[in-house]
Amino acid sequence: MILSLMTVHPLPRRRKAGILPSLEDLLFYTIAEGQEKIPAHKFVSALKATGLRTGDPRLKECMEMLKVTLKSTSDGVMLDRHLFKKCVQSNIVLLTQAFRKKFVIPDFMSFASHVDKLYESAKNLSGGQVADYIPQLAKFSPELWAVALCTVDGQRHTVGDTKVPFCLQSCVKPLKYAIAVHDHSTEYVHRFIGKEPSGLRFNKLFLNEDGEDSAPAALTHLSKKLVMNFLNKMAGNEYVGFSNATFQSERESGDRNFAIGYYLKEKKCFPEGTDMTSILDFYFQLCSIEVTCESASVMAATLANGGFCPITGERVLSPEAVRDTLSLMHSCGMYDFSGQFAFHVGLPAKSGVSGGILLVVPNVMGVMCWSPPLDKLGNSVRGIQFCTVKSVINLLFAAYTGDVSALRRFALSSMDMEQRDYDSRTALHVAAAEGHAEVVRFLLEACKVNPEPKDRWGNTPMDEAVHFGHHDVVTLLKDYQSKYSPPESGADSETAQKNFDGML
Ligand code: GLU
Repeated sequence: MILSLMTVHPLPRRRKAGILPSLEDLLFYTIAEGQEKIPAHKFVSALKATGLRTGDPRLKECMEMLKVTLKSTSDGVMLDRHLFKKCVQSNIVLLTQAFRKKFVIPDFMSFASHVDKLYESAKNLSGGQVADYIPQLAKFSPELWAVALCTVDGQRHTVGDTKVPFCLQSCVKPLKYAIAVHDHSTEYVHRFIGKEPSGLRFNKLFLNEDGEDSAPAALTHLSKKLVMNFLNKMAGNEYVGFSNATFQSERESGDRNFAIGYYLKEKKCFPEGTDMTSILDFYFQLCSIEVTCESASVMAATLANGGFCPITGERVLSPEAVRDTLSLMHSCGMYDFSGQFAFHVGLPAKSGVSGGILLVVPNVMGVMCWSPPLDKLGNSVRGIQFCTVKSVINLLFAAYTGDVSALRRFALSSMDMEQRDYDSRTALHVAAAEGHAEVVRFLLEACKVNPEPKDRWGNTPMDEAVHFGHHDVVTLLKDYQSKYSPPESGADSETAQKNFDGML
């Protein structure tokens, strides 16, 4: 402790004394790249490359000062060191963090371009049905497709139709559950609702042995105003609206929901004195709350960030509420695909009939995918493709970092170890290029992957190992190739499993 104080203190003092350049000066030199002045647009594009937005509420002072300052300059464009300092000083901590690559995703531009590629590959998917039980959903074009993300540091990326409002529908359920737990504790909320996935369709009339409904229907103490207030805060005051037309249609077509309501009432599942029909109205209202992909990604990021909204820094939800919400999303957020999704993607998510998928990567980011066509289980076709491709990224990342134990876990969860990314590269390509001999050995001997897959440019893992001079990997590949004969189809996974069991 004493040591760290001693090393930390002298720095600001020496800065103040003018011995060391200030943080503002350092930032100036970084962006100016040897020039006397920085063009304002250069500063703004460098800022955007870190993932921050000029509209970020945390940069309000800086952006306002920039506007005022530029007006006072003769050319309205260039900032010298003094003017630059004036603009950045109120937000210098955040800006320094951003430019020193201290955010959770340091190289945001290349990350964003990966996301764009995933977006593009899902865009070509056809199939699925746009929900048409009410006109407000049926009107949406099947072409609509959007992905927005916000990291826990407030880095933003959006692609596609991310500004089009749509209703949250069932995506609101984890949010209202989080608010209920925040307001009333887990113990209270779970007096009325269960935790066990029912394994049945989301609107099935069913109670478990303890008389619990598995859908969070009994949140009687909340009001629409209170929920909207919370959602506004979770979204950092970005778009949250309400579609009265959807509400009316939901209410008119909601016979099944009424049936469930009466059933729950008969079984005394509501707190005493509850008016069941007004609870149902409340439910329909919450389904009719509108967001855009962009605003919903900030909501998801608040869940990823332990309950703090990343772009305002405000604590919106308690840690208890976030923890319980993520657990339930993990086990039952994706209708009857929940088990598969938990197994293959392993992240908390919630799907809705409007085509949204709210995805949380805890401690990293929140993502909202939206595309109206739904598969047979009611999940967005493009959204599912986007979320599950993540498994390729996980696989290649483990190969890249040489993480054999992660690869072992993936293989155990019957992940396809020969999956390819958009450049047709496999984990074996990546591990060979990085010289991770242990990973190469594991992929070849335990997983029995094809040793000679070709990537988009026709390169094999052997080409990579030779190119990067990893002689041990070259030898491994050579030895293996001399013994390798492609397995007959059907037999391969069994043999691979046996070999794999042997390696554990
Ligand atoms: N309004 C729908 C219902 O409760 C919501 C369905 C959904 O998004 O899963 O029937």
